[in-house]
Amino acid sequence: MNVNLQAGDLRRTKIVATLGPATDDDDVFRKMLKHGLDVVRVNFSHGSAQDHLDRIERVRRLSRETGQYVGILVDLQGPKIRIGKFKEGKVTLREADEFVLDAGLGIDLGDQHYVGITYPPLADDVNAGDRLLLDDGLIELMVTSTKGSKVTCKVTIGGVLSNSKGLNLAGGGLSAAALTDKDKADILTAAKAGADYLAISFVTSAADVELARKLFREAGGQGFIVSKIERAEAVDKHAEIIDASDVVMIARGDLAVEIGDAELPAIQKILINAARERNCVCITATQMMQSMVDSPIPTRAEVLDVANAVMDGTDAVMLSAETAVGSHPDKVIEAMARICLGAERHRLTRTSRHRVDEPLNDVEESIAMGAMYIANHLGVRAILALTESGQTAKLMSRISSGIPIMALSRNAATVHRVTLYRGVYPVLWDIDRNSDVAPPFQALEVLKGLLDLNSGDSVLITFGDLEGVEGNTNMLKIVTIS
Ligand code: PEP
Repeated sequence: MNVNLQAGDLRRTKIVATLGPATDDDDVFRKMLKHGLDVVRVNFSHGSAQDHLDRIERVRRLSRETGQYVGILVDLQGPKIRIGKFKEGKVTLREADEFVLDAGLGIDLGDQHYVGITYPPLADDVNAGDRLLLDDGLIELMVTSTKGSKVTCKVTIGGVLSNSKGLNLAGGGLSAAALTDKDKADILTAAKAGADYLAISFVTSAADVELARKLFREAGGQGFIVSKIERAEAVDKHAEIIDASDVVMIARGDLAVEIGDAELPAIQKILINAARERNCVCITATQMMQSMVDSPIPTRAEVLDVANAVMDGTDAVMLSAETAVGSHPDKVIEAMARICLGAERHRLTRTSRHRVDEPLNDVEESIAMGAMYIANHLGVRAILALTESGQTAKLMSRISSGIPIMALSRNAATVHRVTLYRGVYPVLWDIDRNSDVAPPFQALEVLKGLLDLNSGDSVLITFGDLEGVEGNTNMLKIVTIS
């Protein structure tokens, strides 16, 4: 089993694809791997625990078969607030109609005037004048009054409203806790499945992230925590959330509904930049290639959206419906990989002022930053990070560069984790303790087998003098191939 490298195709930005009915065919999934899939997202908003375990098992089987590492990201549903069902399946709301959301109404008794709601405290959380957005903002209501369990609204944007559509409060402010009882049960499934990443929906504070990590660890989960930024409050508190998280996901679907679509481009740039600054990994998600749910090619606007996220410095770009239920789950990965590569060729994506005017945090970061400075200025062919946890490789990848960072680790968890880090390529490798050759030179031999190195090429190797200890990287070596 080895790296996700094909000669001449060193894409740095990673691709996350959501699994679903459209990816359940082995041949389709093999093609997705061939086109460069790095991480799968298992969306716990839909399907049973057994469905998810079966899908994860298939990914592992095909990953072993093809020799390509794939990270597994479990995405919890979170407190997504939904309306109930309509007796007739749907209604048409007209502008200026009165419409009541009532947590006291039977969940399937909705009609032209009333509908149930899955969130009992709604009437306490909203005030007259608040805007409620249904079905990702396609329908808008303005609250006129609240009484008991009832929220009376005036329809401000009408349309067809069908069963169980999502509801958001414009500007944020709903008090639902980030982890529901269903999420707590799903954390057990994620731990059982050995998820590399656990994504928490509707995070509002660092405390939400810490609680999720605690429950995941108690269940035996070793994976890293992804905080989905999709509430207005999470944007305000992004610094503390990033510091508590291993990864942040810019979950643009719900986020745009809460903060307004016009705010999104600037917030995306701010969040990506803040994540990199704080040594956190970042995923940009939702509707990146939406038209490819049906179409075999992306729109020009989608090409620019993906390329922009790459130029902003995101670690990964994510596909949702495009792969889960789309008509071209393999072609969309091929197109996304092509667009990432195109954007990465631009000089903008290879220069960086990361930490130039700031103190460094510790020895490990100092080695990582020194390595990147030398690599970028000397022009080595590759960087080899001999790493226990992948941390050195992650720190290196906060600096933009065109030079591959090969993360060599004996830990299977580490090689699966680094599939998400920009510019980092996983290699499962262990030191031969019976060999007379020093570990950095053993690693170099492995690299020669992976990259087409020529006499005169230099590589940079980082390692620690205490083998097997996390956070111990304290040396760097430059070797020229003779
Ligand atoms: C989003 O809202 O953009 C998102 C990624 O979350 P979900 O797909 O779970 O709604």
